[in-house]
Amino acid sequence: MTSLAPSGPGDTRLEALWSKSPQAALARAESRCLAAGERWTEPRRRTFELLVEAGRPVKAYDLVASYGPGRRPTKPPTVYRALAFLIGLGLVHKVETGNAFIACPRPDAARHAANFLICEVCGRADELDLGMREPLEAIAQRLAFRLDRVVIEARGVCAPCRFEPRRGLDNDQGR
Ligand SMILES: [Zn+2]
Ligand SMILES: [Zn+2]
Repeated sequence: MTSLAPSGPGDTRLEALWSKSPQAALARAESRCLAAGERWTEPRRRTFELLVEAGRPVKAYDLVASYGPGRRPTKPPTVYRALAFLIGLGLVHKVETGNAFIACPRPDAARHAANFLICEVCGRADELDLGMREPLEAIAQRLAFRLDRVVIEARGVCAPCRFEPRRGLDNDQGR
């Protein structure tokens, strides 16, 4: 199993397999699903594929709207059920502050809490490995607090949006 090691010193961003090879990401997601004794159904495959193609957080209703052949919509429960399954397996994360969903950069990683740096301008979200879950679990255990989920999401403006004028976005004003 691939570890969630940071991609470089001082940089805890996770390099996305889907940005290098969408096909490999789909294949790994399928094998993780099968290894868990679950079926890789068409709604699960297609929902994951749409998220891999997007490479950024996508709202559920946008997945519903572009699900079918020729980007025809499907019934919402098809996508919502697939999302719940994919999240349960750790293949997809919910970006809580954006109410959107993103494919995990490491589809073969064990289930984990995901933290994000989210750009308010272009919408990209880089998954981080902050290792915050374990210390919080220790505190929760001491306090007999039942820890359900940990949400750490940082919002701001990414370097390309700040420094690449060709994007034509005057977004760094007042910062
Ligand atoms: Zn992840
Ligand atoms: Zn950006």
